[in-house]
Amino acid sequence: MQFPPLKRPGTCFTSAENMASDIYAEDIIAHYEHPHNKGKIQNPSESVHEFNPVCGDDIVLYVEIEKGKIKDIKFEGSGCAISMASASMMTDEVKGLTLKDIESMGVEKLIEVLGIDPGPARLKCATLSLRAIKKAVLQYEKKEITKEIKEL
Ligand code: ZN
Repeated sequence: MQFPPLKRPGTCFTSAENMASDIYAEDIIAHYEHPHNKGKIQNPSESVHEFNPVCGDDIVLYVEIEKGKIKDIKFEGSGCAISMASASMMTDEVKGLTLKDIESMGVEKLIEVLGIDPGPARLKCATLSLRAIKKAVLQYEKKEITKEIKEL
């Protein structure tokens, strides 16, 4: 599957000055500077391109699903500190979980994982990765159900 080229990095909160703002927990900055699960999965079960036009955050998520669980998950892209830290932390969080677990995840869980409430202005940055993860699961389940129906 081919995606359009990634756009420019997020512009809402990328400077060190903005990152020093007290809403950022240390964890957020650590994950932004050294993201986990950054990269690509060859032949993933699903991949999703998700863009946040408010800020310019842009990610491609790769998911490998096996026996109803997230076996592996990686992301590529660029964006502000919140969006990138969220992608790093959420991919850590969902690895090994079942698709059902992910279906039931909401903003409360995201805030718990991030350790901060990003507030309404930055919520779209924070939820970008969760949207991508949920879309990947939805795409996968749609395919699986379509296969099942064909076999009936
Ligand atoms: Zn952002």
